[in-house]
Amino acid sequence: RDDLRGREPYGAPQLDVPYALNTNENPYPPSAALVNAIGEAVKGVAGSLNRYPDRDAVKLREDLAAFLNRDTPGAGLTGRDVWAANGSNEIIQQILQAFGGFGRTALGFEPSYSMHPIITSVSGTAWINAHRDADFGLDPERAIKAVEEHRPDVVFLTSPNNPTGTALPLEAIEAVLKVAPGMVVVDEAYAEFRRAGTPSALTLLPGNPRLIVTRTMSKAFAMAGTRLGYLAADPAVIDALLLVRLPYHLSAVTQAVARTAITFGDELLDSVNALRRERDDVVAWLRAEGLEVAESDANFVLFGRFADRRGVWERMLDRGVLIREVGPPEWLRVSVGTPEEMAAFRTALKEASKEVGE
Ligand code: PLP
Repeated sequence: RDDLRGREPYGAPQLDVPYALNTNENPYPPSAALVNAIGEAVKGVAGSLNRYPDRDAVKLREDLAAFLNRDTPGAGLTGRDVWAANGSNEIIQQILQAFGGFGRTALGFEPSYSMHPIITSVSGTAWINAHRDADFGLDPERAIKAVEEHRPDVVFLTSPNNPTGTALPLEAIEAVLKVAPGMVVVDEAYAEFRRAGTPSALTLLPGNPRLIVTRTMSKAFAMAGTRLGYLAADPAVIDALLLVRLPYHLSAVTQAVARTAITFGDELLDSVNALRRERDDVVAWLRAEGLEVAESDANFVLFGRFADRRGVWERMLDRGVLIREVGPPEWLRVSVGTPEEMAAFRTALKEASKEVGE
């Protein structure tokens, strides 16, 4: 296919390094109690693996709805309002299969999550690149103008945004919802890390049948290896996704592991508080070092600026610290790790910057 020519496969390096701070995972592995509970849950389904799993993941969706209702009191979600898939990447793919396709368009505000345009064009949908403001926010008037000009079938808003960390105020999302002719997807992969007072788009769901809010268990839930993403939307949206999803797309093992992890929600979300504190510390440290730092409501921080960002990145890698070259050309992104990992990051960044003369 011509539109795939010249494209590289998804490229975040998977290297065996002491400090992997490049893919925004949760650095805290599951506790011994959770590992044990997962073992029991897998044993529980092992005896019936000759059968296909629940195609509609009914119980898992009910558990996810209950979790979202705790996250956003008043959301009032049931299992019918929630859908799940193999990571939120597959959720995004299903959305584009259902609402995009040849002859249709999707619009996003760059810099943002690189897989939105990639999954869009792989689905045959044309991608429209709009822009965030200089501070990586999104002025509602500018957003309205972009949507009115292009009239896309799907709009992507990412909040908190990857790679910048910036959360959007509800006014920006409401402004887009008011003028968008098609679906509005708010990708909230990092929602649990948002600072107090930063609202979730879940509060806008009632009465907005074109709004889809996507979440994942890969980040705050520390379950990236499980591959479980989900969304909340009007049940009519989910009916459309049922037409495009592969039957039995979520294995019985995945469903059992995810449901077990949800029962450990409080424990898992404790690590979120630790990561939030660590994030705020690293933001303060980077600023004290004289660097520019984007506001972050996520578990990563975008900082700059470097005339030779590749040089800094390479020299950090020499020291066993893998961060990410992503976003505008002079910026780098670090995922927030444990205190020990962040100490290694600080030392490596100082040394690497000195070495390349930054
Ligand atoms: N959305 C955003 C904004 C992300 O940053 C990521 C992963 O980095 C994803 C979605 C995909 O996450 P997953 O497929 O693991 O749920």
